[in-house]
Amino acid sequence: MRVTIPGKWDIETDVVVVGYGGAGAVAAITASDRGASVVILEKAPTGGGTTKVAGGGWLRPTDMRFCQYVEKLCAGTTEPELIRLFVEKSMKTGDWLKSIGGDPYDFKPVQISYVAGPLPGASYPWLPGAEFMVKMKLRKPAGTEDEVLWPLLSSNVEKRPIKVMTNTPAEDLITGPKGEVIGVRAQRGAGKVFIKAKKAVILTCGGFEYDEAMKNDYLPCRPFYAFADPNCTGDGVRMAQKVGAALWHMPATSAALGFKTPEYVAAFNVSFVTERFIFVNRDGKRFLDEAGLEDHEIATRVCVFDTARWTYPQIPVYAVFDEAGRKKAPLFQANSGFNRTLYKWSPDNSVEINKGWITKGKTIAELARKIKVNGPALERCLSQYNEFCKMGRDADFGRAAEALVPLDTPPYYAIELYPSLCNTQGGPRRDGESRVVNPDGKPIPRLYSAGELGSVWGFLYQGSGNLAECIVFGEIAGRNAAAEEPLE
Ligand SMILES: Cc1cc2nc3c(=O)[nH]c(=O)nc-3n(C[C@H](O)[C@H](O)[C@H](O)COP(=O)(O)OP(=O)(O)OC[C@H]3O[C@@H](n4cnc5c(N)ncnc54)[C@H](O)[C@@H]3O)c2cc1C
Repeated sequence: MRVTIPGKWDIETDVVVVGYGGAGAVAAITASDRGASVVILEKAPTGGGTTKVAGGGWLRPTDMRFCQYVEKLCAGTTEPELIRLFVEKSMKTGDWLKSIGGDPYDFKPVQISYVAGPLPGASYPWLPGAEFMVKMKLRKPAGTEDEVLWPLLSSNVEKRPIKVMTNTPAEDLITGPKGEVIGVRAQRGAGKVFIKAKKAVILTCGGFEYDEAMKNDYLPCRPFYAFADPNCTGDGVRMAQKVGAALWHMPATSAALGFKTPEYVAAFNVSFVTERFIFVNRDGKRFLDEAGLEDHEIATRVCVFDTARWTYPQIPVYAVFDEAGRKKAPLFQANSGFNRTLYKWSPDNSVEINKGWITKGKTIAELARKIKVNGPALERCLSQYNEFCKMGRDADFGRAAEALVPLDTPPYYAIELYPSLCNTQGGPRRDGESRVVNPDGKPIPRLYSAGELGSVWGFLYQGSGNLAECIVFGEIAGRNAAAEEPLE
């Protein structure tokens, strides 16, 4: 239902930005620098969203031929012209960050772990155009280890006359007689606040990682947990839908495997620094090459529904490892994800064994009994795998020879892993001007979006593609919003 235009607005500004993460900050800075007055509404007590807990690298195409690669990943879900624009603008994100005081540089991440490690280049190097991308990062000032992208963006917001209203979730867009967006109704304390946007509203309120109904409807399996910021509950999707936006890319995700425990809202992004692990399904069998996974697409590999048994046989996945693997490194590296500052995982995983997060068995049979998988099947699986390790060849799934290390030092351990979202990609459809469009492809007047909410990645995702998108479309949205003719 359309929200009634209030008799009196509580606040009036040129541009309202909904959501203070990466895309919101870029949009706000740009609009402010173009002379617009800007109010940012943020649901959480502080800004940052998922941007604050990300790995902090973003892709930089080195040639327009990278379009071929993005087109392959989008598989027809995003128009080639929009991909061209995204690729072209992504080449210059470093210049924009420099213009606000950042020190970006091309870097080659070293893959330090299996399953959750950043890859040095493109995720699918065999695809055409894959060779035309590098990753960028901001140089950290001497003596700091923290991520620097969010501090750079937020300090730039603070330097400008931008009003940031935290603890103020936007609830609804307010439209005028022609369907144009003229303001926002938000919750503030126990009351409502009505903010007039004389030029435009920019939706930058992230994904729907914590909206159970949307995940049930759109994602390929359940449950789906998340590493992202828990305030990302699909509010922007609903607000945009209510004013007639078309949705796109709703089933697309960037998702890996995580460990989830009720004490924490977010899942833990688990990784294996050592080769001493395998994944088994609920039948106690291996089902893929565990060391050859692209960490943003793992969920798509496990979300397989077995209609004969009416179940997802690979959910949960059990990561099985031995004593030597257990001692080598913590399963949670705490370098990204919402839990990264909330919990310190013990270096040898012993605390998590005592907590019951990791299950221990003196023998494989005991471990199988405890995790309720078929004991003889798990024993067969382990002895077959160890045999492959001796041979130096995984005859079942082709795991690389250098990753074949036998699991032969008891006791044995298992941790349950579930599909877990870095991010969702779906949301209101946007065009090359960052305008939100309706199902006929016509822009909804004065409504823009940027960032993860309705991102360009419609099928498979290229790691480090979302922060690039926050900068590219945040900048376009901010510029166009500031250029709108103001309402009376
Ligand atoms: C563990 C992890 C690592 C990642 N690493 C990388 C990486 O290295 N490179 C990369 O490119 N991407 C990475 N990503 C993905 C990337 O971080 C996100 O896609 C991106 O930061 C999203 O930015 P955003 O501005 O669109 O949303 P966010 O940064 O999530 O900001 C959205 C903001 O909107 C607020 N909000 C929500 N609803 C409302 C409302 N109703 N009213 C007001 N405010 C609202 C939220 O509180 C939040 O602050 C990673 C993600 C995760 C989880």
